[in-house]
Amino acid sequence: MALDVFQFSALSDNYGYLIRCSTTGACAAIDTPEAGKILSEAKAIGWDITEVWNTHHHWDHAGGNDEVRAATGAQVIAPAAEADTIGHVDRAVEHGDIVTLGEQTAKVIDVGGHTLGHVAYWFEDANVAFVGDALFALGCGRLFEGTPQQMHASLSRLKALPPETVIYCAHEYTQANARFALSVDPDNAALQSYAQKVDAKRAKGEPTVPTLLAAELEANPFLRWDDPGLRAHLGLKTAQDWEVFAEVRRRKDSF
Ligand code: ZN
Ligand code: FE
Repeated sequence: MALDVFQFSALSDNYGYLIRCSTTGACAAIDTPEAGKILSEAKAIGWDITEVWNTHHHWDHAGGNDEVRAATGAQVIAPAAEADTIGHVDRAVEHGDIVTLGEQTAKVIDVGGHTLGHVAYWFEDANVAFVGDALFALGCGRLFEGTPQQMHASLSRLKALPPETVIYCAHEYTQANARFALSVDPDNAALQSYAQKVDAKRAKGEPTVPTLLAAELEANPFLRWDDPGLRAHLGLKTAQDWEVFAEVRRRKDSF
């Protein structure tokens, strides 16, 4: 038994994901960035969408829910704290809940901050996590609703996952994120080589997503609040971890 993942581009820079339990055929769309695209991609690979799993309420993540439901009868699983905004929700979930897709099991992780109720879905056995707009390759989501403290706590939960976890984030922002990351952590050799690989992939039109948590731990400045080199560069050698995170996020907002 296995968890199959199918990734495709949607809208201008979103990624859509279809995931399927290979044993039972149960299939979920992770968010609904572009309903028509999701339905046509599912048809092309012969998967029948039975569920929608939302990470947060933004239109490029839940805006296609109704159209996908109308076409497939899919059940919607969504964060409890955002169910009212999202609309029709069959099952509202919160941190620690277990969600199953056929024989595959995912744990719901609270990653609030980009939006207050944002959740991630972590398949421990399959070693994959769908993190929406909480964590990006070399970046993290903008704090539209939450505080730096909240986002720091959320990213701490993702940081604590096994390093071999494959991170599926919802946008192709990596090349711009790399330019910013180098501005705050210029002497990081792992970041330098990561950035070169990103440039090479984008030059060939290839996605830089998914990413490996291990690579993010070495190079993503939004996860490196405890790194002496980054702290020194920011002039925050003795600050709290969340304050280092807040400063990185503040600089990115005006980069
Ligand atoms: Zn968003
Ligand atoms: Fe988004």
